[in-house]
Amino acid sequence: MKAAYDVMVVGAGPAGSTAARVAAARGMSVLLIDKRQEIGSLVRCAEAVGAESLRPYIEPDERWINAHISAYAVWNSAGDHVSVPPTEPTLIVERKVFDRELAHLAAKAGAEVRAKTSAVGLLHENGAVAGVKTRSQGKDYAVKAKLVIAADGTESQVARWAGLKTVPPMRDYYSAFQYLLSGVNHMVDQTECQYHLGPSLAPGAMRGCSRRATTPLTSGW
Ligand SMILES: Cc1cc2nc3c(=O)[nH]c(=O)nc-3n(C[C@H](O)[C@H](O)[C@H](O)COP(=O)(O)OP(=O)(O)OC[C@H]3O[C@@H](n4cnc5c(N)ncnc54)[C@H](O)[C@@H]3O)c2cc1C
Repeated sequence: MKAAYDVMVVGAGPAGSTAARVAAARGMSVLLIDKRQEIGSLVRCAEAVGAESLRPYIEPDERWINAHISAYAVWNSAGDHVSVPPTEPTLIVERKVFDRELAHLAAKAGAEVRAKTSAVGLLHENGAVAGVKTRSQGKDYAVKAKLVIAADGTESQVARWAGLKTVPPMRDYYSAFQYLLSGVNHMVDQTECQYHLGPSLAPGAMRGCSRRATTPLTSGW
């Protein structure tokens, strides 16, 4: 890790890796860090995305596409359901592979990518953000940067350290369990994304349960 970069990106999710790739491709020196040991796991995501929404950032690639969705079906506890087509071609991506591919593209464009490296604070100079305090394998490093990109998720701590309000109000929070299921592909239509609602599945919950039709070893929530 160098002592200074043009751009430092905290968080190698889709936003961070894409920002790092774009900055590096424009000739800036870029450091992209992520606190996780492995980029792409575990993510809190059901992995559905519109193909056209994705295209400005990355061309869809079958290597990280698990399913092509042609219908969304909502089921109630009585066993009735309605099925509607998506408003645009929808993909279920394998985030583990997708996130790594985006980080790989950032590295290919020239960004330095470091996993197992956490942002633990910000450096300030003359009242402005001037870099990031990082921790990697028990050691602390101060890394200066002309621009710091807080891509550490929707509840960004880095942005909060910089004085931005990033904590959503409590009314925007929902509690949930997310399970990764395998061996269910023979039971479901691989092109249909299913949502199962009702107290028989989750007594007391607002949303009973939902299930994605994907290939084995992918997510459902
Ligand atoms: C239950 C659930 C289901 C969802 N389903 C969908 C869906 O079907 N389709 C869809 O498009 N979106 C879905 N989302 C939303 C989607 O997951 C997020 O919008 C997306 O992951 C945000 O990407 P990001 O790059 O901004 O952040 P993230 O993907 O959250 O990446 C942030 C990265 O920052 C790293 N990080 C955090 N703090 C630090 C730190 N201090 N130092 C270093 N690294 C740090 C994390 O390890 C992580 O890798 C879902 C979200 C949830 C919770």
